[in-house]
Amino acid sequence: MEPTKPVPQNFLREIIEADLAAGTHGGRVALRFPPEPNGFPHLGHAKSICLNFGLARSFGGVCNLRYDDTNPETERPEYVEALADAVRWLGFEPAQTLHTSDYFERLYEWAVQLVRDGKAYVDSLNEEAIRATRGTVTEPGTDSPFRDRSVSENLDLLAGMRAGAFADGTHVLRARIDMAHPNMKMRDPVMYRIRHAAHYRRGDAWSLYPLYDWAHGQSDAIEGITHSLCTLEFDVNRELYDWYLDALGITPPRNRQYEFARLNLDYTVMSKRKLLALVNEGHVAGWDDPRLPTIAGLRRRGVTPSAVRAFCSTIGVTKTDGRVDVAIFEHAIREELNTTAPRVLAVLRPLRVTLTNVPEGIEETLDAPLWPHDVTPPEGAPATRPLPFTRELYIERDDFMDAPPKGWHRLAPGAEVRLRHAYVIRCDEVIRDAAGEPVELRCSIDPETRSGNAAGRKVKGVVHWVSATRGVPCEVRLYDRLFTAPDPEAEGDDFRAALNPDSL
Ligand code: ATP
Ligand code: MG
Repeated sequence: MEPTKPVPQNFLREIIEADLAAGTHGGRVALRFPPEPNGFPHLGHAKSICLNFGLARSFGGVCNLRYDDTNPETERPEYVEALADAVRWLGFEPAQTLHTSDYFERLYEWAVQLVRDGKAYVDSLNEEAIRATRGTVTEPGTDSPFRDRSVSENLDLLAGMRAGAFADGTHVLRARIDMAHPNMKMRDPVMYRIRHAAHYRRGDAWSLYPLYDWAHGQSDAIEGITHSLCTLEFDVNRELYDWYLDALGITPPRNRQYEFARLNLDYTVMSKRKLLALVNEGHVAGWDDPRLPTIAGLRRRGVTPSAVRAFCSTIGVTKTDGRVDVAIFEHAIREELNTTAPRVLAVLRPLRVTLTNVPEGIEETLDAPLWPHDVTPPEGAPATRPLPFTRELYIERDDFMDAPPKGWHRLAPGAEVRLRHAYVIRCDEVIRDAAGEPVELRCSIDPETRSGNAAGRKVKGVVHWVSATRGVPCEVRLYDRLFTAPDPEAEGDDFRAALNPDSL
């Protein structure tokens, strides 16, 4: 990727600059992009990829791709591949590709350490009872009857959990913090749960799986991450992130968590869980349905990586959640394609035009520009192409009106219009079917008006067209927005209610 614009300043850059200036990490900058491989990456992930890899690149640091694969039930190799592919497609190269599931042994040793230090205990309440005793934001929780188990009993039970001796849901390992803590995340959070499920990488090696909070900060520490970026909803987790590191004796300078606003784009949903529902329930054709905000869908739609990078740079990084207008995304795509995509003519709803004063069998080859007049063609690209002009043409049905309103500059009975890159024509006669619908326009050209001819007459309207005899068939896929509401999640209980039935 060639840097084209000066890098915009954001609060994360300022934090890293300050750390570099203070020598906090001995000049190191190490970030990571930590997706869970439980779905296909989407535009929100693109924002995170551009941010993490982009910051690492601009500070001469490193960025790892780390699969946060702690949940055996939802993770699959095809998602792993799609995520790696998205990073590459966006133009970035991970310093290392790593897996939280490779840290399971290390995390387990650390858990044993916390148990020994009296900072963790095995709780035998079930999930429901744990939830019921957590309290609320206004009321403290209550201690589990198992909270004061002895260290040796806890160690025995934990070893049994590790050995697969217990059924799912019978015990969990919890951090012993404070059941009355004002931050609910700190009320003896669960560190491990028992799941007798095969993991896509570790197979049956484990039946004990770490929860996000227990795995994340420690994984950052193992990798020597300096700045651990996540989305705003994790700000309440930061206290726990630091508590675990403190409890393990991992002291500063160490990995620190910073939060930024997640990307929400109008007329779409961005959560993998919701995207998965759309795919599984058949509302879309697959993960690469072009109406989806997935990287696979965007690619299929012809969106380029540089347009996505430009978009991510435009929206920047903030500390307040909001929604981004799709027009901003579409603008980024158009800005790029405008200078890189050659233009040709196509007609989608054809209406036949016969040019009565062009003799049959006569064909003229026009020299039509491939680019808008204000665009310099990319290096090595031709500026023009031969365009066959024939007696029989098609124009767009919508470019003709029988009784047009005032100010209509396109075709109508008796009216004149310019055929793009060609001549001015006049509509002399309309041939209709039994229902009165026009099926053919009989028109005449003014041979003095060829495009580029200095003597050419000016008419207001210009329409696109193709030769009926020399044009080539093509497949055109038309689709609209997938949702009718800017924020489908705000439309009551079910985001599916806002699906657009006419989007295909
Ligand atoms: P989802 O709800 O789609 O599953 P997630 O946050 O659980 O999202 P992960 O795959 O766990 O997704 O996240 C990988 C990284 O991408 C995280 O650092 C996360 O913060 C970031 N990320 C995910 N969604 C967005 C988004 N909409 N905007 C910005 N960053 C995002
Ligand atoms: Mg998730």
